Formats: sequence, C-alpha cells, structure tokens
Amino acid sequence: MSQLTPTPAAAYAASRAQSRSTRQWQQADSAHFLHPFTDHAALARKGARIITRAEGIYLWDSEGHKILDAMSGLWCVNTGYGQQGLVDAATRQMQELPFYNAFFQTSTPPAIELAELLAEVTPPQFDKVFFTCSGSEGNDTVVRMVRHYWASLGQPQRRILISRHNGYHGSTMAGASLGGMSGMHAQGGLPIPDIHHIQQPHWFEHGQGQSREDFGLTAAHWLEDKILELGPERVAAFIGEPVQGAGGVIVPPSTYWPEIQRICDKYGILLVSDEVICGFGRTGQWFGCETMGTRPDLMTFAKGVTSGYVPLGGVMVSQRVSDVLASHGEFNHGFTYSGHPVACAVATANIRLIQQMNLVAHVRQNIGPYLAQRLQDVAAHPLVGEVQSCAMMAAVQLVQDKAKLQCFKPELEVGMLCRAHCFGNGLIMRAVGDRMIIAPPLVMSRAQVDEMVNLILHCLDLSLQELQQKGWV
Ligand SMILES: *Cc1c(COP(=O)(O)O)cnc(C)c1O
Repeated sequence: MSQLTPTPAAAYAASRAQSRSTRQWQQADSAHFLHPFTDHAALARKGARIITRAEGIYLWDSEGHKILDAMSGLWCVNTGYGQQGLVDAATRQMQELPFYNAFFQTSTPPAIELAELLAEVTPPQFDKVFFTCSGSEGNDTVVRMVRHYWASLGQPQRRILISRHNGYHGSTMAGASLGGMSGMHAQGGLPIPDIHHIQQPHWFEHGQGQSREDFGLTAAHWLEDKILELGPERVAAFIGEPVQGAGGVIVPPSTYWPEIQRICDKYGILLVSDEVICGFGRTGQWFGCETMGTRPDLMTFAKGVTSGYVPLGGVMVSQRVSDVLASHGEFNHGFTYSGHPVACAVATANIRLIQQMNLVAHVRQNIGPYLAQRLQDVAAHPLVGEVQSCAMMAAVQLVQDKAKLQCFKPELEVGMLCRAHCFGNGLIMRAVGDRMIIAPPLVMSRAQVDEMVNLILHCLDLSLQELQQKGWV
C-alpha cells in the first residue's frame, strides 16, 4: 500500500471512472449492490447512473455529463463539494488518531471540541450532545431517551411519542415508526408500539378552503385532540421536522409551530425538533426551530453537520432532560462510533467553515430571498399549482389545472416524467409524487440560482410538451 503515489482528485476520479465502461459499472452494480429505497428489477433494466466526481454545486457522471445538484447530495452538502478544509481535517485526524471509543470513561479531543462547538451554535437550552452515526440512530436515541426520562421521573406510563403522517424520521425500526410513510409501515411489522400519528400541516392537501393561518391552528389542534384522546399522562413527546423534507418540502403556516409549542407546554410534553435537514443553515437560521419559533427539549441532527463528507448524527439534549439523566445512573445506550474522532473533526471543520463564510446570514439575507424571488417565475408556469419555499428548500407542485389547483391522477406519475427530463438535462431535482423538490447547497451564488431556475423552467417546458403530446393536459 505504501507504493501508492497520491494523484490529484480529478485525475484519480477520471482514471478510476475510465477503468471500466459505464455499462460495466452498471452490471457490477446490479449484480452486487442493494440500493436503499429501490426497485432492483427496474434499476437493473435501466442501469444506475454512475456519479464519479463533484465540485462546488456540480456533479459529473461516468459519461462526462455535468449535473447541477439541486438536492445537495441528499439534503446534506450544505457547504458544497470540494472543500479542501474538510479533507485536510479528516486526513490529519486519521493520521493522528483514526479511532477510539468513548465507552470506558475515555474521550478524544475531536469529540470534545465538537460537543463544545455544538453547544455554542445551538439554541441556549442545549449544552449537551449524544453522538450517533446517522439521523435514524439519532431518532432511535430520542425514543429511548424520552422514555427513560419519564421513567426516571417516576412516570413510566408516559411512553407514547406522537408524530405526523408523511413525516420522515429515518429508516431504523424506531425511525421508520416515528415517520409517517405508509409504504415503510407496510413492510417489516411497523410501527413499534406506543407511536401515534396525527395529520400533517399540509395546506395544499388538507387545508384548501381555509386561510393558511387558520389552517395552521387547525392542524396544531390535531395534536391537542390526540393528546386528550390518548390521555396526557401517557404522552411522552411530540416530534416533527420544522419543515417536512422527504414528505415533499411542506412548509407549515406561520401559526402552526407556536401553537404546537403552547400545547406541549400546557401538557408538559417534551418537544423534539428533527433538524436533520433543517439544521446548519438551511432555513436561514442555524436551526429550523429558530426560524419556526419553538424551544425544543431535544433536537436530532445529521446530514449538514458534516456537509455529508462523512457520516455523523446526534441528539442535542436540553438542561431539562440532561439534569434528570445525570441523576439517574447509566443510560444503557450507545454506538461503537458515538463521537468518532474523524467524523467529529470533519464536523468541527465544517461548522467553522459555515461561521467563516457567514453562510447562515448569506442564506437568510441574500441567497434565500433571491431564490424565493426567482421561484416566482416558476410559480407562473402553466404546469405549476403552487411553489413553497423556506430559504434553501423549495417545492414545486405540478397540477393538471392551474386555475382549479386540480392534481394529476397519481398513477400517471407526472413527477417521475418531469424528473426524467431533469435527469436528461443536467439537473438533479427530486420528485415526491407530483411535487418537485429542491434543497441546493447553501454556498450558491445568485448566478447559480439563475442557472438552476432556468434549468427548472426548461425541464417544466419539456414536461408540458410531453404531457400535451400524451393528451394528459
Ligand atoms: C434523512 C433524515 C433522517 C434520517 O437520517 P439518516 O442519516 O438517513 O439515518 C431523519 N430525519 C430527517 C428529517 C431526515 O431528513
């Protein structure tokens, strides 16, 4: 191994990509690699797109196509690709101490430094962190932690967590149970006991006929109804994403979250903010709870904490919870990689970079408002029923009849049709049903927003043409 001479990243990527043809990569992929959330028979017919390199906000595939990544990988590459500082942090840490655990009354400088920095950038009630390797593990930790919290306080019957239909909280047993994705609940015997769901605050689906503000209060009161139905003495916590991401970038009305906070306070229920997407600047504040005006007791994070360069997640724990945990012995929970030194070193470098670039203010004052302004052009498109955005995440709802806000039949899969045009035209935009969603890197310039919006409009035009040819509009 010591014979390896370092090559520049691009040359290395090119030589590796060219070591096999795209077809060869695809064949080996379909022979051996089980992808997440994938119909493998369909993928084998088509062949995976092989992504070989990235820089800034762009990806390149094995055919040499340049692609604008309007999804930040998977909602995570907040500071963009190719940040040398993150690479250096990982390299240095791997040389110095690639791994040590934190189980046996030991700790490591990178984990301590990151814990300290997270206490600094998160809202004031948080001064402790529990590290995991992913958002899903963070939410599993939440389930065990809130139940242990209430048991420690002599209320073991408080075991129920309430979350929302069409929320996403990961794919482990507890994460998928908290989530409200019916397709996930249908497989593997979910949800686990004592998880209940209320309807999401999605005005377009459930609120038309009401003003958005009134609907926000109605949707929040579904939580109170559910608490009273179950018995407040049995409810441990409510969990939600400030803005639902995987559910289709559903931005709740401004009245929703303050009312949720009031209801949680009224019944003494813990509020958990799943900040896996909204954290680290995406909504124009450090955390989505700050944008939405809540004061959560626990906060799950992952994705943007390292800009996706290495896996890391965790749970921020408020004093209310950590004081109780601290006085009740051992919390029998943890992971081999909790506080992994390399992941923590990269996260610290990433957060310092966000600070140095003033990235949160860039999102709040400059690029977020600019994106919202440019999305007006998208909203005017004949195929678009509504556009919703919250700083650097947005949804474009495709409709059959713009005037009546009438949707396409789901079986037509118009979102997938549009996504195929994006794929073919150098734009990564995801489809959730007929809702096209974007969550681009926060480091975008105005010129890059223009480029992205022009691509979106072009792909909407192509989609409309195809729909007209098919006679579906
Ligand atoms: C992605 C996501 C998760 C799960 O994170 P993983 O790292 O994939 O386990 C949890 N919550 C939200 C809101 C997410 O978007």
